[in-house]
Amino acid sequence: MDTPTMLGKLAEVQRRHGIPYMLWMGGEPLLRPDVLREGTKLFAGNTVTTNGTIDLIDLPRCIYVISLDGPPEINDAVRGEGTFRKVMETLSRIPEGFQPTVMCQCVVTRQNEDALEELIHRLRPTRIQGLTFSFYVPCRNDRSDLTWGSLERRDRAVLNVIELKRRHPDFVWNNRRSLELMRSENARAVTDNCPARRLLLPLYLQGGDFVSPYCCHGNDVDCDLCGSWVVFYLAAKLENRPPAGQSSSPVARRRD
Ligand code: SF4
Repeated sequence: MDTPTMLGKLAEVQRRHGIPYMLWMGGEPLLRPDVLREGTKLFAGNTVTTNGTIDLIDLPRCIYVISLDGPPEINDAVRGEGTFRKVMETLSRIPEGFQPTVMCQCVVTRQNEDALEELIHRLRPTRIQGLTFSFYVPCRNDRSDLTWGSLERRDRAVLNVIELKRRHPDFVWNNRRSLELMRSENARAVTDNCPARRLLLPLYLQGGDFVSPYCCHGNDVDCDLCGSWVVFYLAAKLENRPPAGQSSSPVARRRD
């Protein structure tokens, strides 16, 4: 889809639904800098998720989320040889005075669950300001090495992240309550009434138009084992929602 057409469709969707905040994800959004430069102006706030191998653009009202799945050997097994090094090189090229927040998101899986603190130690000296941990969202009948297969077996990893939040409160930006909600005794109450399904509008580019899948993780998802950061973040925020009639900021802050 060419840039003017895409911007026109996004402006229309923004107006129709009154969307305050946009999460740009791919593919790789930075492959379309023309769309990002103009498209981010349509929204009061923007988060751009990137693989971190392309130089970041200085955009106003923007948070960059760089995806890393662990220390180099674990990350590169998933994302390709040399990817971790390329991300470090991108970070080192960020100029003085760069406005956007630059953070990392790590998807916790059964493969990397024991390497999370090493990732924190590697990122602390870099331009990364903090990170969130999301938990793997399996598709239905997922038999891969990434999934725990049950909420009870995932609990060890969730408890591990809760402990990392305790040890690195300034750097691990997951909301404490959202992590508690991910524990097996709480998670189904959240995912059975998924706040992301109610509050987010996923738009996938398909051919010449945008289509909306079942949720932001696609169509063939296993909600019972969902560990998506945004789901539990929203659930924790909704617990503290001000009474009707009182306003709160439309732009969600990622930090606890
Ligand atoms: S898989 Fe999608 S719909 Fe299901 S709980 Fe997770 S975000 Fe919600």
